[in-house]
Amino acid sequence: MSALPDRAVAMLAAVHATPGLTRAEASRLLGIGSGAATEVVGRLVAERLVTEGPSTPGGGRGRPTRPLIAHPEGPVVLAAIITHEAWRVDAVELGNDPLASTAGRHTGAPETAVLADLARAVGDLRNRFGGRVRGLGIGAPGIVLDERYVNAPGLGWTDVDLATMCADAELFIADNDATLGALAESTRGAAVGARLALHLRVDAGLGGAVVDEGRLVPGARGTAGEFGHLPMGDPAVRCPCGAGGCWGTAVDGGALARLLGEPEPPDPVTYARQVLARAGTGDHAARAAVDVAAEALGRGIAGLVNALDPDVVTLGGLGADLLAAAPDPLHTACRAGLMRFRRATPPPVVPARLGEDGPLTGAAERAWGRWWGELRR
Ligand SMILES: [Zn+2]
Repeated sequence: MSALPDRAVAMLAAVHATPGLTRAEASRLLGIGSGAATEVVGRLVAERLVTEGPSTPGGGRGRPTRPLIAHPEGPVVLAAIITHEAWRVDAVELGNDPLASTAGRHTGAPETAVLADLARAVGDLRNRFGGRVRGLGIGAPGIVLDERYVNAPGLGWTDVDLATMCADAELFIADNDATLGALAESTRGAAVGARLALHLRVDAGLGGAVVDEGRLVPGARGTAGEFGHLPMGDPAVRCPCGAGGCWGTAVDGGALARLLGEPEPPDPVTYARQVLARAGTGDHAARAAVDVAAEALGRGIAGLVNALDPDVVTLGGLGADLLAAAPDPLHTACRAGLMRFRRATPPPVVPARLGEDGPLTGAAERAWGRWWGELRR
């Protein structure tokens, strides 16, 4: 396919963001006239990128309108995620509606076995969708360098090249799961429309990202957002990163275990979920530990709000669970740490709307974004 004009790519991205958009809505959104919109839609339909759905009654004026939707033979991206215990690959069409999904578990399996399983799943989906596949985005729970090499202490992976699971490296793009969760919340979740959004995800560690008007702030090497390693925790506690006093060590499963006087859990995420469940069923010690971790999360959020000035803070993973379990300790600690001028209108601190699907949705968004760039070339 030849390069598309910028306005055609913008129209494609608009249909992706809002499937069912009408031609009139799209032309308003893009700031182009109806003649130009008709021409652009004609091109996109001819290239089998979008199609027009069945007529629906128009917005009150009685004129039928045909919504723009994904073409049934149109582009597909593969979105994959690796967590500490499982993996999943989805094939999604424009608008991120899933067409197929494959998943597996991998606890304790070596990286080569996990990547071989993923490569098989990706290969099966590529066979099934053939030339329709325009990209593969993948999220991993670790630092991702150069959009492919992952260092994930929780998995015991060092400099693992994720691109080996995809035969066409040029289709491939990898990123940190918390960063992808941030992108997903800003495109389809609780931070849509925010000028500056801060997303924090607590899992085995604490990560996140800043999204500036819908665009990730990636840092020079693509590794920005390691907020869990700000020294806002107990300096006496060593973090697996090598530093002391990291904030992440004050809010995770390890923190809950220390507060409860229990041994360091081998699987801190599962352990934290168990403690949250105990707190919910009237275990006072668990309740108190959850409150202290929620306060530590709230205090750190205040520091980031003071520094970054976001208009919304979204919490994913165990962060959302701590917010649900102990909203008052979290909000009170956050408020106490805010600069006075911020207290009248503090940014809302809310759970991520996409929940555990956030990083996978973000992986799809990264793949689509990469493809939009290619179409413009
Ligand atoms: Zn650290």
